[in-house]
Amino acid sequence: MAAGFVLAVHGGAGTIPREADPARAAGYRAGLERALRAGHAILARGGGARDAVIAAVCILEDDPLFNAGRGSVLTAAGGIEMDAAVMDGRTGEAGAVAGVTGLRNPIVAARAVLEASGHVLMIGPGAEAFARARGVETAGPDYFLTPARRDQLRAAQSAGTTALDHDGAAGTVGTVGAVARDATGALAAATSTGGLTNKRPGRVGDSPLIGAGTYADTSVAVSCTGTGEAFIRAVLAHDIAARLRYAAQSLDAAVAGAIRDGLDARGGRGGVIALDRHGGAALRFNTEGMYRGIIRADGHPETAIHSES
Ligand code: ASP
Repeated sequence: MAAGFVLAVHGGAGTIPREADPARAAGYRAGLERALRAGHAILARGGGARDAVIAAVCILEDDPLFNAGRGSVLTAAGGIEMDAAVMDGRTGEAGAVAGVTGLRNPIVAARAVLEASGHVLMIGPGAEAFARARGVETAGPDYFLTPARRDQLRAAQSAGTTALDHDGAAGTVGTVGAVARDATGALAAATSTGGLTNKRPGRVGDSPLIGAGTYADTSVAVSCTGTGEAFIRAVLAHDIAARLRYAAQSLDAAVAGAIRDGLDARGGRGGVIALDRHGGAALRFNTEGMYRGIIRADGHPETAIHSES
C-alpha cells in the first residue's frame, strides 16, 4: 500500500438496529465525518498523528450524540465519570485520565498528562485539578447532561443491568476513538468515553488503560470500544501489537484473532479500529454494528455503521 497519511475513527459498537431512524443514522455519520475532516486538515498540512487523533476525538466529545465528553452516559448514581487516553507511537509516550467530571474535553486532559505530568494515568479530583491548572476547559453539569442519558439510565436501572451506550432503548452510541498515521509514518491512538450506562461509581473501563483499550507503537495504533472488562482481561489493544511483532501476522489477521480469542472467548462485545505503519487499516467488530469511518490523503471520508453499509 502506498504510504500516505490516514485517519480512522469510531463512535462505539453494539446492538444498532438496521431499521434505526435514518435521520439519527445521518446525524452519527455527519459527526464521524466532521471528526475525519478535522484530523485530515491537520495531517494534510504536515501535522503529526498525535495532533490529528486529539482533534478528531475533540469533535466527537463535543457532539452530544456520542458517549464521550458532552453526552456521556450516567453512572448508577446519576453522575458522569469520564475516561480518556492518548498514546504516541513514535515516542512511546502515553497520557490518560479516569473517573473525571466537569472537563469539557477529557482527551485534552489526557494529553496534558502525557506532556506535562511526568505520569501516565491520573484519576478523579487530582486529575481534574491538574487539568484545570494546565488550562483545560471546564463545564457545569448542564453542559454534559442530556435528557436522552437520563432516559437511558432509567431503562438500564429498571432492567437491573449495565449497558453499552448503543444498546439502550434511547439508541445513542458509545465511546469514541481515533487512530492516525501521519505523512512521516508515525502512528497515534486516542480513546474517550463516559463508560457504561449504570456503571458503579468508581468503575474504570478499558479506554484509559494503555494496552487494553488504547495502544500505539511504531508498528500499529489501536482504539477499542465495547464491554471494557473483557478488553482489560484480554489486554486486547496490546495483543494486536504483539501478534504483529512476535507472530508476524497481518494487521487484519491480528485484529480478527484478538477479537476471536480475546473478546468472543470471554463473551465480550465490541470492536476495534487499527492502522499499521504502512497505512493499512482494520475496522472490525463482533457486534451488530460499529459507528466508524476512515479518511486518506485524497480527503474523501467514508463512514459505515453495519457490516456492509
Ligand atoms: N469500552 C467502554 C468502557 O467499557 C465502553 C464502550 O466502548 O462503549 O468503558
